[in-house]
Amino acid sequence: MANVLFTNVRVLDGTGAQPYTGDVQVQGNRILRVSRSSSSATGGATVIDGAGATLMPGLCEAHTHFAWNNAANFDDIQRMPTEEHVLWCAHVAKEYLDHGWTSCVGAATAKPRLDVVTRNAINEGLIKGPRYLAASQEITVHGSLGDETLPHIPYPEYSFGAIVSGPEEMRKCVRMFLKYGVDSIKLNLSGDNFVPFAPAETTWMSDEEVAIAVKEAKIRGKRVSVHARSCESVKQALRHGAEVIYHASFTDSEALDMLEANKDKIFVAPGLSVILKLLYEGEVIGVSQAKAKDMGYERELEAAVNSLSAMHKRGVRVLPGGDYGFSWAPHGTNAMDLQYFVKYLGFTPMQALVSATALGGQIMMKPNELGLIKEGYLADLLLVDGDPVSNLGVLLEKDKLLAIMKDGVFHKEPQMRSGRSSRWTLNAA
Ligand SMILES: [Zn+2]
Repeated sequence: MANVLFTNVRVLDGTGAQPYTGDVQVQGNRILRVSRSSSSATGGATVIDGAGATLMPGLCEAHTHFAWNNAANFDDIQRMPTEEHVLWCAHVAKEYLDHGWTSCVGAATAKPRLDVVTRNAINEGLIKGPRYLAASQEITVHGSLGDETLPHIPYPEYSFGAIVSGPEEMRKCVRMFLKYGVDSIKLNLSGDNFVPFAPAETTWMSDEEVAIAVKEAKIRGKRVSVHARSCESVKQALRHGAEVIYHASFTDSEALDMLEANKDKIFVAPGLSVILKLLYEGEVIGVSQAKAKDMGYERELEAAVNSLSAMHKRGVRVLPGGDYGFSWAPHGTNAMDLQYFVKYLGFTPMQALVSATALGGQIMMKPNELGLIKEGYLADLLLVDGDPVSNLGVLLEKDKLLAIMKDGVFHKEPQMRSGRSSRWTLNAA
């Protein structure tokens, strides 16, 4: 059983309190003791002298797509053969952990069982990866985001989403994903400016379709998450009791009031990277700024900044993460989201960190045992060479993560160094 004592660390506990110097002891998979003073009694623990490095809770990515393969378009993701795709997901799962994301919320996968088998393999110890909530494919309707079929190529396998029409087809589709063992059902309620045939401000599903999907998911105790960029789709999600709203770019005062009224039940994960990267750095993939504006991204950014800033002010839980895994925002660069929250949404760096840790425990459905450095909590910890509060950028640098622990087990052990000049030592007591 693990018995590890971090001494001389700056404890950034995830509550929003300023860091303090202290000790943290881990026993088994939980935090046994947190103290503001150093104790010479080690109780037989392996002692890690942090020499002033920051110890913080592991990060949570609230809008993850393991199956997105860093391609520049949906086709190149969807057409990856299943065998390669499974290996890709295993590879990416480890990459998340390597970058300090000890929890990830699956937001949709590209083939029916990719997320489920990846989660199961992580939990069985076959592959390395974060705690993971597995998602269904994006369920969509004909003509909307995720329907990639063509009149002369009507095969659903070519399509990004699972396409349904009407409540009974929806019921069948949801039940299929529940049978496969997903933790959440994903519905594409709105379109997206990435696809010209269904822009962001359009709304596609009927209330009957959404209602039956939520009903079936809840019967099995599962969660519904939605792709909702349009104002109407945000309201539709709230009317029907979806718990995780992705994007929420367009709102009006009624939508904001509804979001606030449901703030203890819902989570919002905007995934700003797509908008920002295509608008400001799209040239690298052949999207000029003029084209990005034409696609509606300038208008959407302005709306999203207003909507999400207002949500944050009203106490709605807005979490980082989202839609990494495209060529313009590859997996591993997800910590950019914390900086986006500060630059665009009015968060302080500390609020962004709370969002990525304490709120992460909540969206992972472990509100009283994950996301904080607190006695009794699960030991998902990062030892960071630097101060994330004064420099969020440090979280983008893999080498600055001196140690990564998930569930009391080191994914990355601090380097063993000897001699008095060592900053980080690992001594068996
Ligand atoms: Zn997404």
